[in-house]
Amino acid sequence: MGNDLFGGLGGLMKGLSNLMPQDDPAVKMMNAHTQVSDLQKQEKDLYVQIGKMAVEKYGLESFGEIADKLKLVQSNLAVAQGELNAQKAEQEAKDKAAEAAAAALRCPSCGFTNPEGTKFCQECGTKMGASHCTSCGAELAPGTRFCGECGARQPE
Ligand SMILES: [Zn+2]
Ligand SMILES: [Zn+2]
Repeated sequence: MGNDLFGGLGGLMKGLSNLMPQDDPAVKMMNAHTQVSDLQKQEKDLYVQIGKMAVEKYGLESFGEIADKLKLVQSNLAVAQGELNAQKAEQEAKDKAAEAAAAALRCPSCGFTNPEGTKFCQECGTKMGASHCTSCGAELAPGTRFCGECGARQPE
C-alpha cells in the first residue's frame, strides 16, 4: 500500500512538475530578467552609498562638473519640496473649510444635512446657522430668543 502511495505521489509530482511553468521559456526569461534588475538595483544602491562616503571623505568640490549638477539638483529639489508643502497646506486648508461648511449645514438639533442657504432645518424646523444679536452683535445659538449678552429680544 505504501509503495502504491509513493508511486502514486511520484506520478502526481511528475505530472505537476510538467505543469509547473518553470520550464516555460517565457517564465525562465522573466525570472532571469527579475534577477538581473534586482541585482542592478542592489549595485546602484551600493554605488549611492559609496558616492556619499566619497563625498564625505573628499568633499563635493573635488568632483567637478558632476558636483555642480548635484548642487543644482539639490537646490531644485528644495524648491520642489517647498512647492509640495505649500500645495499640501493649501489642500489641508481647503479640506478644513469644506468641513466647516458641511458642519454649518448640519442641523444642531437633529443632525440632518441641509442644502446651502437653508434657514430652517428641512427635517425638524430648527433655525439654522449661528445668528448675531440685532442689538449688540454677540453670536447667538440657533433659536435664541433673548440675547445672553444684552438681553435684547431677537426677531423670530
Ligand atoms: Zn433638524
Ligand atoms: Zn445682545
